[in-house]
Amino acid sequence: MAMIKKSAALKATEVPKKAPRNLPLKAVAKIKTGSCVVCKAPFTKERPLQRVCSWFCAKAWARVKSEKLEKQRIKLAKERLKTKAQLLKEAQKVFNAYIRMRDVGKQCICCNEPLALGDPRLSTGGSYDCGHYRSIGSAPHLRFDERNAHGQRKQCNRWGAGRAVDYRVGLIARIGIDAVEDLEGNHLAKKWTLGEIRELIAMYKAMYKAKQKTYLKVAAAHGTEASQMPNQPGVMAGDGDGA
Ligand SMILES: [Zn+2]
Ligand SMILES: [Zn+2]
Repeated sequence: MAMIKKSAALKATEVPKKAPRNLPLKAVAKIKTGSCVVCKAPFTKERPLQRVCSWFCAKAWARVKSEKLEKQRIKLAKERLKTKAQLLKEAQKVFNAYIRMRDVGKQCICCNEPLALGDPRLSTGGSYDCGHYRSIGSAPHLRFDERNAHGQRKQCNRWGAGRAVDYRVGLIARIGIDAVEDLEGNHLAKKWTLGEIRELIAMYKAMYKAKQKTYLKVAAAHGTEASQMPNQPGVMAGDGDGA
């Protein structure tokens, strides 16, 4: 690729192109110089949308574009081959990241300690977990229930059963006893279709981004370090065993 670039660049500088004649004045005025997307050499456009300087670079550009299309095709094919388990895992990552983003600046659901921010012991390994009140293992139907998931310090989430008793106290304060009892009494199995899981992924990605935008604005207004943001979905190492 480097060799192609070099020779093409030489070619372009050796033979400077002129604006074509015999065109209406208006059309000539529109013609501008550009730099070739392949060899980066400047050239005079013969057509307004021209992106390459020469036939040589046009061939290279066509190859680049077809490779890009092929990559997209492979990506789509891989997406279609994903199993339900893979999609659920992906959705959980995005959901958990959204919950962590939602709870930025709040206190730990079970002990009321500030969530990770400013805690040097936690600042390296990510920040805090998305702790589920009823664990994903024992209540998989509530794995994407926002009332059932809250920002929780890692040592709390991974201690015992996620400090269930303290969690309950914090949860009542946050969502009310009725909602807590509703969660506790909910034993309806829930099966998501592949399409529904994909929708969940897209929805929580969008919600994450929206919250992040708001948070960044607030952080900027208060002069908070952006590095104190919870990590992007997928970057952060899991959320314990999902408890
Ligand atoms: Zn070129
Ligand atoms: Zn706690």
